[in-house]
Amino acid sequence: MAIENVVIIGSGPSAYTAAIYASRANLKPLIVEGEADISKRTDIPGGQLMITTEVENYPGFPKGVEGPELMKLMREQAERFGTRVETGWVEKVDFSKRPFSLKTGEREYQAKAVIISTGAGAKFLGIPSEKLLMNKGVSACATCDGALPPFRNKKLIVVGGGDTAIEEATFLTRFASKVAIVHRRDTLRASKIMQDKAKKNPKIEFLWNSVIEEILDVKAGKVTGVRLRNVNTNEVSVTEAGGVFIAIGHEPNTAFVKGAVELDEKGYVKVTKGTYTNVEGVFAAGDCVDHVYRQAVTAAGMGCMAAIDAERWLEAQGH
Ligand code: NAP
Repeated sequence: MAIENVVIIGSGPSAYTAAIYASRANLKPLIVEGEADISKRTDIPGGQLMITTEVENYPGFPKGVEGPELMKLMREQAERFGTRVETGWVEKVDFSKRPFSLKTGEREYQAKAVIISTGAGAKFLGIPSEKLLMNKGVSACATCDGALPPFRNKKLIVVGGGDTAIEEATFLTRFASKVAIVHRRDTLRASKIMQDKAKKNPKIEFLWNSVIEEILDVKAGKVTGVRLRNVNTNEVSVTEAGGVFIAIGHEPNTAFVKGAVELDEKGYVKVTKGTYTNVEGVFAAGDCVDHVYRQAVTAAGMGCMAAIDAERWLEAQGH
C-alpha cells in the first residue's frame, strides 16, 4: 500500500485550504471527503457552505458568492496544484504508530501526516417526535428543503436564536406564508445586521422565551404544529405549523477520532502550538477544533496553518 505524505480528512474551507497549501508545497495531498448525506445537513462534501445561500463576508467577493460556488472554486484551486480527492467516510483510525492508518468502509490509507478537518454537524433538540417526523415536516436544513411543496404557503417554525436560525427564517419567507422563530430567551445571539433584517421582515414573528416540548402530530405522520412551553411562566400552548426547521447550532464531527486524539468535553479536537494535536504528525483545523469563531474564513485560515505545520513537521522528520 502506498504511503501518503498527507491525508486531509474533510472537504470544507479548512480542508481545501490545507490542500492548496500542501499541494503547492509538493506534498501531493489526498483529501478523503464524506459521501453526500444531506439529512445530516453538514456531513456533505464541501461542508456547511454547500447548504448556505449567499456568503457576503468571505473576503474577495464584494458582491457575495453562493456557498456551493465558493466550495467549487476552492476545490478547483486545490486540484489545479495536484490535490487528489477520494470519497468515503473515515470510520477508523490508528494513530498509535506511524505511518498512520485510516479506514473507510471500502479502503485503507496509510499516511505520514494527517490533517483532521471534518467540521461540525447540526445539533438536534433530542425529543422523540423530532426523530419520528424527520423528513416528514421536520428538517435541519431550510436551504435544502424549504422550497419543497409540503412547506409552501404554510406557517413554518424555525428553532434557535443564532445566525443560522435567522438566515433560515429569512430564506423560508420566500415560500412560507409566515415564519415563527422560537427562541428560548428574549434576545438573539445572531449578528446585529441579520437581526435587523429579520425584525423588518413582515413575514417573520418571534416567539420569545419558548421551547418546543413536542412536535405534532406523530400519529398523523406529518407536522401539524408544535406544543410550546414558556420557560418563564411554564404556560403551555399549541401553535399550528406545516414544518419545523431546527437551527440550534452544531457539534463537531469527531466521533471517529475519539480515543485516538485528545478531544475537549464537547468533542472538539484539542490543539496546541497552532494546529498540533496531542499526537505528533496529526493536525486539526476548522470547525472540528473551533467553537468560537466558526466562520468560513477562519476555517480556511486554520487549514492554511495546518498545512504549514504539517509541512514543517514532515521536513523535521527528514521527509
Ligand atoms: P449558535 O450561534 O451557536 O446559535 C445557536 C442558537 O440555538 C442559540 O440562540 C441557542 O440559544 C439556541 N439553542 C442551542 N441549543 C438549544 C436547544 N437545545 N434548544 C433551544 N435552543 C437552543 O449557532 P448557529 O446559529 O448555527 O451559528 C454558528 C456559527 O456560524 C456562528 O458563529 C455564526 O455567526 C455563524 N454563521 C454565520 C452566518 C452568516 O454570517 N451568514 C450564517 C450562519 C451561521 P442561546 O442563544 O440561548 O444559547
